[in-house]
Amino acid sequence: MKYLDEFQDPELARRLFDDIRATVTRPWALMEVCGGQTHSIIRHGIDQLLPEEIELIHGPGCPVCVTPLEMIDKALEIASRPGVIFCSFGDMLRVPGTGRDLFTVRGEGGDVRVVYSPLDALRIARENPDKQVVFFGIGFETTAPPNAMTVYQARRLGIRNFSLLVSHVRVPPAIEGLMTSPDCRVQAFLAAGHVCSVMGTEEYPQLAERFRVPIVVTGFEPLDILEGVRRAVRQLERGEHRVENAYPRAVRPEGNPAARRMLADVFEVTDRAWRGIGTIPASGWRLSEAYREFDAEQRFEVGDLTTVEPAACRSGDVLQGLLKPHECEAFGTVCTPRTPLGATMVSSEGACAAYYLYRRLAGAPTPVEVAPVG
Ligand code: SF4
Repeated sequence: MKYLDEFQDPELARRLFDDIRATVTRPWALMEVCGGQTHSIIRHGIDQLLPEEIELIHGPGCPVCVTPLEMIDKALEIASRPGVIFCSFGDMLRVPGTGRDLFTVRGEGGDVRVVYSPLDALRIARENPDKQVVFFGIGFETTAPPNAMTVYQARRLGIRNFSLLVSHVRVPPAIEGLMTSPDCRVQAFLAAGHVCSVMGTEEYPQLAERFRVPIVVTGFEPLDILEGVRRAVRQLERGEHRVENAYPRAVRPEGNPAARRMLADVFEVTDRAWRGIGTIPASGWRLSEAYREFDAEQRFEVGDLTTVEPAACRSGDVLQGLLKPHECEAFGTVCTPRTPLGATMVSSEGACAAYYLYRRLAGAPTPVEVAPVG
């Protein structure tokens, strides 16, 4: 399959591993920002095949995982109301709120629907003018543009019974938040390629300069990851700290101008709470004044709802790279994908889910899907 098989080629992977081994002379800690990259790394055993000097720290780039408990509780409250059709991507339905999840609400009679596009939710709104239709808009710079476009279309078409529950977050302020934490051990970043395909790379040079860290825009296949690691390690060994694009087949410096225009029209930057991490200034979006009437928090008056996160779940430490999932006491015992305590065990991009799925338990053998290299 084009753009897939050739990026999993074992011989090319072997050469990249050899190059990295020949380059590295001392320990380095690299953070892959995106949960999709984390899953690729764990699935293919890349972290186990790299030289022991290189540690890959899993970052906060899983959109489901960083959505705060408070926002899940707001979704549950809205979805429970009579006359509401609550639409979401499927991976949010099992994310635990306080005492229940969206599946529970559906079991109790709530009209909760899985959709595959926010435009599906808009269609449902057109077909059900006597109902309030809400779409749960979560995620990074990747999912924000289609959600922005849906609100734009709702206003253009005069569909007033549609609204968006917004929990969008931005990567650069999260990097800044991580780097200013006293516990931070990260020395280089593998930036999320799909985020940069939308936003471009111009937000990153100032971060690389200020924190003196290499930032390498990286894709998601095994060779993409290895190339990102290779470039980051080369910079670290040379004492450099630049932004490099190791994912040029998808990322241009300017990103996607049409998507960025749509974001700038519909959203405005705001402070956002991240699950287990807390509020990071300017790290998210909310609907701009012109589109505020489509804000579900305002329409359903749930803006004041606050929640305390359970102490047992250490997903905040996992999301900041301070703890590996299998180092959490609840991992694989009271917390499993069937009985998740936190979103990082539920989401298809969550680090805890990756460790569980690929049997990365303490003392467990190398995963079965390790690439035949090295
Ligand atoms: S293993 Fe479960 S309880 Fe522990 S951090 Fe992950 S999601 Fe939270």
